[in-house]
Order: sequence, then structure tokens, then C-alpha cells
Amino acid sequence: MKFRFLLILFASTSFAEQSRTVTKISSNQVTALVDTNDAVDLKEWGSQAGTLCVEWCPKIAALLSSEGFLFPKEVTLYFDPAMKGVAHAADGKITISAAYVRAHPDDRGMVAHELTHVVQSYPAGGPGWLVEGIADWVRIVHFEPQAARPKLTRLASYKDAYKTTAMFLEWCEKQHGAGLVVNLNAALRVGKYRDELWKEITGKSVDNLWADFTKTFSN
Ligand SMILES: [Zn+2]
Repeated sequence: MKFRFLLILFASTSFAEQSRTVTKISSNQVTALVDTNDAVDLKEWGSQAGTLCVEWCPKIAALLSSEGFLFPKEVTLYFDPAMKGVAHAADGKITISAAYVRAHPDDRGMVAHELTHVVQSYPAGGPGWLVEGIADWVRIVHFEPQAARPKLTRLASYKDAYKTTAMFLEWCEKQHGAGLVVNLNAALRVGKYRDELWKEITGKSVDNLWADFTKTFSN
């Protein structure tokens, strides 16, 4: 944790009806704006999540690099007191359920997953299972490699998204060389993903790769 590179400011921002305070956390590359005005008990958690975003945005961008792509320089985190579910990200803004954080205060990997969506910057239309799989690939392979993983069974599918797809991507790269994720990412980012890319990159179709992967399952 390189806190010495970070500058934390408390800046007042005027909104339409009332003055709200956002915590601004900056490195020389990225700024996180953390808004816990509607969940003030999460101010410290929010600051730590903002610091995570500032540190990991360039790292995730390096993992998901593509020609000419410049990663977002600003990320906003808003803690929503009424939101059901966990979190979502759109247009540089991560919205997180305050209730979820209170119930799962140790889940920093969720922030890394959502931050990956900010860095992905994919246009609409890509397959959701792969978009979510890449976000969890960053999370479980790079951000929290020590965390427990689900036990996959033969009932699973690569289209299950999230950790199942993430573990499949990791296995494919171990079997067929690194570069699959970065190449799929590059295609997704310009709206040119096709299932045929798996064969062009690895020599095997996604269905054949999955069939090989399932042979490693113990049940
Ligand atoms: Zn997601």
C-alpha cells in the first residue's frame, strides 16, 4: 500500500439542494471521488475503497491494455442507502449498496470487480458472461489470488459468468499461453468480439476448450 503517493482531500461540492462533501483521493494518474453522504458510517470504508481504486486502476488497465486505449482518470464511488443487491458500474461511476458493505465489510474484491468494469469501457453488445468473467478474472487471479474459490462441477458452463468463467480463462491461459484475455478484451472494447476468436487465439474452439477444462473437475 503506497499511501505516500496519495493525496486525500475533503472537498465541498454544491449540489442542487444541499452541500455535500466528497472525499477526493488522488495519485498522479487517477482520482477517486468518494461520496458517503447518504451512508456516513461508511466514510472510512469508502476512503479505503477509493484508495484501492486509485492504486488498482493503472494495474487493471495494464492487464487489459489495448491499442490506443487510455484508462479513465477519474472514478466516482457512491454508497447507496436504498440499493438492493451488491454494486454496479457505469460511465466511470461505481454505485455500491451500503447495506451490502455493512453485511460484508471484508469484501474488497467486489470493488476490484466493479473497477474492472470501469476500466473495461466496453460498448454495449458484448456477451455478458465474458464481460463478467473478465471482471472476476481480474479479481480472483490478480487481486485476491489467495481467496477461496468455488468447486466447479460438470453441471457448470463457461457461460455461467463470474468466477466460473474467470477460472476457465485462467486455465486456458495456462494451457495455451497468456494473451487470451488481453486479446478478447481488445475485441470487446471495439465491439468486435466473435466466438471464433477463441480458436484463432488458442487453436481450439471455446466449446472444445471447455470440454477439456471439465476433464480436470473431480466431480
Ligand atoms: Zn460485474
